[in-house]
Amino acid sequence: MLKDKKTTKTNDPLRHSSSEASPLRHSSSEASPLRQSNSPRFRQVEAGSEARKETGPIRHFRRQTFSPRTHALSVTSRSVRTEIAKKTAQPSRPAAAAEKGSVRFAALGGMEEIGRNCSFFEYENEIVVIDVGIQFPEEETPGIDYIIPNATYLESKKKNIRAIILTHGHYDHIAAIHYLIEKLGNPVIYTSAFTKAIVKKRHEEFTNAPKLIFETVKPGDKVKFSEHLSAKFFEVGHTIPESLGFVLETPAGNMASCGDFRLETDRSGKPHDLETFEALGKMDIHTLFLDATNAEFPGFTLSERVVEEEIEELIRNAKGRVIIAAFASLVDRLLEIIKIAEKLGRKVALNGRSMIANIDIAKNLGYLKEKHENVIPLQDIHKYKDEKILILTTGSQGESNAGLMRMVNGEHRIVQFKDTDTIIFSSSVIPGNERSIQSLQDNIARQVDEVYNSKLLDIHSSGHARGEDVKLVMKIIAPKFVVPIHSYYYKRKAVIKLAKEVGIEKDRVILMDNGQVASLTKNKFTITDEKVPASYVMVDGLGIGDVEEVVLRDRLNLAKEGMIVIILAIQHSNGRLVKSPDIISRGFIYLKENREIVEEMRKRLRAIIGRIPSYQKIEADYLKTLIREQIGQFVYNQTKRRPMVLPVIIEI
Ligand SMILES: [Zn+2]
Repeated sequence: MLKDKKTTKTNDPLRHSSSEASPLRHSSSEASPLRQSNSPRFRQVEAGSEARKETGPIRHFRRQTFSPRTHALSVTSRSVRTEIAKKTAQPSRPAAAAEKGSVRFAALGGMEEIGRNCSFFEYENEIVVIDVGIQFPEEETPGIDYIIPNATYLESKKKNIRAIILTHGHYDHIAAIHYLIEKLGNPVIYTSAFTKAIVKKRHEEFTNAPKLIFETVKPGDKVKFSEHLSAKFFEVGHTIPESLGFVLETPAGNMASCGDFRLETDRSGKPHDLETFEALGKMDIHTLFLDATNAEFPGFTLSERVVEEEIEELIRNAKGRVIIAAFASLVDRLLEIIKIAEKLGRKVALNGRSMIANIDIAKNLGYLKEKHENVIPLQDIHKYKDEKILILTTGSQGESNAGLMRMVNGEHRIVQFKDTDTIIFSSSVIPGNERSIQSLQDNIARQVDEVYNSKLLDIHSSGHARGEDVKLVMKIIAPKFVVPIHSYYYKRKAVIKLAKEVGIEKDRVILMDNGQVASLTKNKFTITDEKVPASYVMVDGLGIGDVEEVVLRDRLNLAKEGMIVIILAIQHSNGRLVKSPDIISRGFIYLKENREIVEEMRKRLRAIIGRIPSYQKIEADYLKTLIREQIGQFVYNQTKRRPMVLPVIIEI
């Protein structure tokens, strides 16, 4: 079965990371059709909060317009990785380009982070792109709404792009499509009806982006994209309906990806419905691209049924209304809760834009066909007795402007808590949100008698395969090579051990970095020295990729050190101060308690102005530089801090 165990991949993960900083760095001067033309203006609208709940800290942003640009930002300030890379730099060796006639594979995101999933296969002049997702911002990128894949390479070959496959409807797999579709030449998007509906819904907000072209596929469908590339789709279990995996037939062999997936288990924890994977096992899979998000955790994924039974029990015992806070992206569970409510004779009211949108899509596609009239508008809840009501709401992570928070603060226009309410948190805690969720739960507990969270069960019932799931799938499919995807390096590395347990040796588990190009031939998987640009591209509400490093640095500095604004009103005729300088501090020191420092600053400002001869015209830029340097130094000497000093000169 396993024919060739040799691969010449580079085993050192850090070898390539430093190159992010240079040769391929995408300079802003690079020509781009979009940049030079009058860029169409896109609109960016609140993105619903569902996907960010799965992937990162929650921030909300305003409706804003922006124009897309193409220049990507290479975030060299991601210093840790770069530093380690420097320390472990290897002697250079001759570049090994992809073998002629080979299939090339590269990930533009998703290999060193959770999110920004995007990769492609390329054979001669045929390219198929897999997923175009976003990543939610990190602490290192304040003020950034999203990070999207760097499409530079694909843009340069957009004529060759024959298809985009979207595996499922989570934002970390689909939500950059609106920003990038034009750069990719607007190729046909192959995806399930459910994913299509979600993408289309969000695309309505991007009024100037081209209309998307979809080809809906179902499990079992086979599609020929181009002369040498075709794919067969299969369904996988995840947390949103119609999640797809695929087998891409290429001249090098069959490439299989399960997308985001988990195995379905029964009550006793035994996996079932393995036929799909068994079929793959007969297809002589060259490389299996495998979701490694939860591979580090032992055991099988806990059955979603167990979580649902627990929720059912809580609802059954509730005396008054039931309010359940959940992720809008966990559509499968929302649907299940609606069915449980129906069984127990409760009407369901939805609260939260993204939740309403997703349930609407599910309804339209027939996912609630039994008697979905038990879903009622929120404003109708007063028509029913409390024990007949269940409210499903977003905001389980303590997001400040989500529905749940408004209920907690007594500001919700329809729902006010009653002490007879039962509140259930049906969602795991996203790391980083612990504190806000804790205070949310405290606040609720002060107002109602029954508060539950199912977080312990939830952690074990995630939408991603755990260690045993991953092992079983590798064993059944028995591919020549395994490429763990969708996660950080250490999580992907966990797959090496698991693979060994099912007889797949270490040299056949390939850990790739973003941007590395692999060359695939019949019996070989080789990571070449070629790299395509994969640095971060930021979307900050104003534009794509126009957030320079200096802007990020300013934001970080402002957050850390605060700022001082100095306002100088200067007489135009003689260059003297009209009045004493105004000094405003934000996030630095409380001025009222530091009068001495403020007075000393004023004295120094007067001295700086005084040194300029009265006949000399005020050179505002020069004066500002002087003030920044001298006041900055003084403040540092006094406080050992470096706030941003912002002089404003008004000539009167
Ligand atoms: Zn997902």
